[in-house]
Amino acid sequence: MKELFYEIVAEAPLAINERKPGGSQFQEGLGYIPGRVVRGALATQVLRGCKDPAHEHNHQECPQPALCRGLFGEEILFGDAHPLVQKREGPFVLPATAMSCKDNSGFRSKGHGVFDTLIDRACWELLQPAAMQYASRCPVCGGRTKGFSGVYSHCQIEEDGRQIDYYFSEDVSRELLTRVAINRRRGVAEDELLYAINTLSQFVVVERDDPYQQKSFDPARYVGSMRLADDSLETLIETELKRVTRMGGGSSRGLGRVGIHVIHAPVKPALEERLGCFNATLAERQQLMIRWRGDETPLPLPQYFAVTLQSDAILSADGWQPDMRLNEAMLWRACGETGQPPADLRLVRCYTISLTRGGFQAAWGLPKVTELAVQAGAVFLYQMEKAADWTTRLERLEEQGVGSRRAEGFGRVLVCDPFHYEAVKEAK
Ligand SMILES: [Zn+2]
Ligand SMILES: [Zn+2]
Repeated sequence: MKELFYEIVAEAPLAINERKPGGSQFQEGLGYIPGRVVRGALATQVLRGCKDPAHEHNHQECPQPALCRGLFGEEILFGDAHPLVQKREGPFVLPATAMSCKDNSGFRSKGHGVFDTLIDRACWELLQPAAMQYASRCPVCGGRTKGFSGVYSHCQIEEDGRQIDYYFSEDVSRELLTRVAINRRRGVAEDELLYAINTLSQFVVVERDDPYQQKSFDPARYVGSMRLADDSLETLIETELKRVTRMGGGSSRGLGRVGIHVIHAPVKPALEERLGCFNATLAERQQLMIRWRGDETPLPLPQYFAVTLQSDAILSADGWQPDMRLNEAMLWRACGETGQPPADLRLVRCYTISLTRGGFQAAWGLPKVTELAVQAGAVFLYQMEKAADWTTRLERLEEQGVGSRRAEGFGRVLVCDPFHYEAVKEAK
């Protein structure tokens, strides 16, 4: 499976909303470009030459049959595109277990730092000290903490001969544009037809070292990826992506003008390494807490792995019932296995938030069914006897994702996200 990364550069404000604008109600826009919107934009482009839009005859007459089959047969899995202000490693979705200071929230570049509580909380709760609850404190001021969500990027800078990791929040500001409908017969503003569109700004403010020009307005950039089952489609998709010029709603109002091009993949540690580091950090923290409790008897340690959602996921137990948990049976199937999951596999912790997700099917001109989803950033922690046996299965899980509507970007996962073990001993 080939993963193709692309960069979307905004040339106009983007209207990425769950519903079409209309009426007087205010609608909250999304802060990223969902995979389904990128898929819709590419499909609109390909459909112009397609001879079988209803997907009935396997696209035999089409100019690009392999591309049509991949796109409309849901073999190409699109991912969400998140903002990336400067050219750094990322963007990655922060896990739901990430916390920051209540008074001075933000990464070390701005606030008291962001740290992850998954490992510490799991260790604490598994040790079960009687009548004591896990509560994190800000490592800088000792104050209270709150959850910290969003996307982040990082880079390494050499200082005094050693490499230091710097983390940054990535965000694009919103703009509320007001439009008025014109009465065609009279040529003046129609009564009661004033409406507002929530858009993502076309520009981001970048701070520079230059004393004469400390701030500059750069076009907003979004980075996403798609996974191709058929590697030979790569060059074809690259040319088709370059032709896409519109994305999201309001194109007749001058919104949604974009340019897309293919970029290099961000660097990520191999799964085996992540699995090893995650378990090493967990064992180390557990030992620390055992010693702190004054209990010297070493416990036989099981092994763990964490699955973190990188996009919203639509999960269903028994194939139809909406669920907030990625239970053992669902995980086992998502790893490409059949039958019952092994007895030593156990889901020990989940941190999830539910929401509803819909969408608009541009080809049919109809809204999509609204479904209950688990928000991106959700974390599931599993326990098993030997983590090393799971490497190939978990690689497959990362490639394929979980739940339904995966071609539209739902259910992308990251196993043992480095943030879980890197942001434990100190806030980043
Ligand atoms: Zn076709
Ligand atoms: Zn603080």
